Amino acid sequence: MGWDAVVVGAGHNGLVAANLLTDAGWSVLVLEANASPGGATRTAELAAPGFRSELCSAFYPLTAASPTIAALDLGRYGLRWRHDHVPLVHVLPDGRTVTLSRDPAETAASVERYGAGDGERWLAEFAAWGRIKDALIGSLLSPFPPVRSGARLARRLGPAELLRFARFAVQSTRRYSRELFCGEGARLLITGNAMHADLTLDTSGSAIVGWLLSMLAQDVGYPVAEGGAQSITDALVRRLEQGGSEIRCGARVTAVEIRDGAAIGVRTADGEAHPATRAVLADVSAPALYRDLVGLPQLPARVASDLANFAWDDATVKVDWALSAPVPWTDPAVRRAGTVHLDLDLDGFGRFALDLASGRIPVRPFILAGQMTSADPSRSPAGTETLWAYTHVPRGLTWTPQRAAEVADRVQATIERHAPGFGSQVVGRAVSSPAGLQAENANLVDGAVGGGTAAPSQQLVFRPTPGLGRADTPIDRLYLASASAHPGGGVHGACGSNAARAALARNRTGTGPVYRAAVGAAGRAVWGRTPGTGPHGGGGR
Ligand SMILES: Cc1cc2nc3c(=O)[nH]c(=O)nc-3n(C[C@H](O)[C@H](O)[C@H](O)COP(=O)(O)OP(=O)(O)OC[C@H]3O[C@@H](n4cnc5c(N)ncnc54)[C@H](O)[C@@H]3O)c2cc1C
Repeated sequence: MGWDAVVVGAGHNGLVAANLLTDAGWSVLVLEANASPGGATRTAELAAPGFRSELCSAFYPLTAASPTIAALDLGRYGLRWRHDHVPLVHVLPDGRTVTLSRDPAETAASVERYGAGDGERWLAEFAAWGRIKDALIGSLLSPFPPVRSGARLARRLGPAELLRFARFAVQSTRRYSRELFCGEGARLLITGNAMHADLTLDTSGSAIVGWLLSMLAQDVGYPVAEGGAQSITDALVRRLEQGGSEIRCGARVTAVEIRDGAAIGVRTADGEAHPATRAVLADVSAPALYRDLVGLPQLPARVASDLANFAWDDATVKVDWALSAPVPWTDPAVRRAGTVHLDLDLDGFGRFALDLASGRIPVRPFILAGQMTSADPSRSPAGTETLWAYTHVPRGLTWTPQRAAEVADRVQATIERHAPGFGSQVVGRAVSSPAGLQAENANLVDGAVGGGTAAPSQQLVFRPTPGLGRADTPIDRLYLASASAHPGGGVHGACGSNAARAALARNRTGTGPVYRAAVGAAGRAVWGRTPGTGPHGGGGR
């Protein structure tokens, strides 16, 4: 017996895809390598018993703004959001802070302290965001080309502003924030937010990512899931199982089975075959899918050679603490924040980027920290704190526990400088090296948080390799559903949703053959012929 679809990997993207296919009446089997579902959206007691830490993702502005997630109505399956904290405070090396509050007036007042007029300019940016946000989010999260939302965005902006918006979209945060703001406060908020992706001060494309996350923080906040990231996964799983589909954990997929250029199922490490009559959706990284599960000889030569140029995002060291009390920040403003950015100024961001690019572990790390209990009291006993943080390190280093601990010590010393006494409150600490993150989840190669760089050279039709900017692959009935696909990293579910929608379109009675022909022709034009598919590249297409 076969399933209509097999989904490889139960990260949130795989679970979103499986839910959408189940909603359409398909029978779906999800195969997950780990003992539990969720991938980078899980919670566990890492640092000490009773202290619930996020294994990876912790703050969810993209989830809150995602039309895909909203449509799943996860509240009905037990998910609750907590918003009652300040989204973000950035701490400068000299101890000054700048606050991004849900209250625009408070943010404006904070950035105004760094540059006269910046408060008004921040509010003007937020007003501009309000005019285009639906169309922009729709354009960014839908498959390429985003016909309807793209047209809506163009109409809202008009030709003159559209041109200027396109220029802004390829700017770096340094250029954009210098053109717009005169003080360091607003510039740091934008630059720090761009660093949630691997986009640094001078990288093209960092401005729009930093701006987008800043405006989301202003608009929907940086919410957390009550009880932890696990609650997002649990709600997705509950919804899926109530729909009649199935998840099997401890089932690592080792191959996608292909016949005549089309995916017909998968095989797991125990040798069992799992046939899929309509589609295989892969919530795994693009290199793992193409190299390990499909095999390069099954792919057009161009895809194999493009894959050699696939760029991962930065490596990551993550640190989790169990604390006997909230962090004793010198500046009380930091105590209200969910997310804390430490402790670089603009020059520091420049040096940090140079260190990463040069293969040096930064002496002054950029730290993204989360005060999880302050954001959600359920994370640890009353009066204590679960603290989450990560920083980036160069890719390609060899990681011993000692080396990872040295990075963690550097992070801890930085926090101590802004919160004297912090160290004495530590009752437990867990350090995850890049290798450790990868061992926990095969998609996090060297601890990459984004499934591949977010640089413009690997976005849209360049993601994961030059192609269609869609979930379709050169193999018929096989779809890439992970953060390696457009639109990339973050918990927004769009990669899973795009893959499910492509599979549904390919199999739709009536219009399915048209979709198949159009994607097949476009694929042959950009990739060349898929081996084993006959002179016209037909195969299953
Ligand atoms: C440290 C860190 C912090 C982050 N912080 C945030 C944040 O605060 N907010 C945010 O929005 N995003 C954040 N992100 C990014 C976000 O978590 C990811 O982009 C997103 O979760 C990726 O989801 P996914 O479903 O594509 O893949 P994953 O969540 O990585 O799931 C992939 C799943 O596939 C499974 N798998 C892999 N190979 C196989 C195989 N061969 N067979 C079977 N199963 C397989 C894995 O075990 C895993 O369960 C963070 C990421 C990291 C690493």
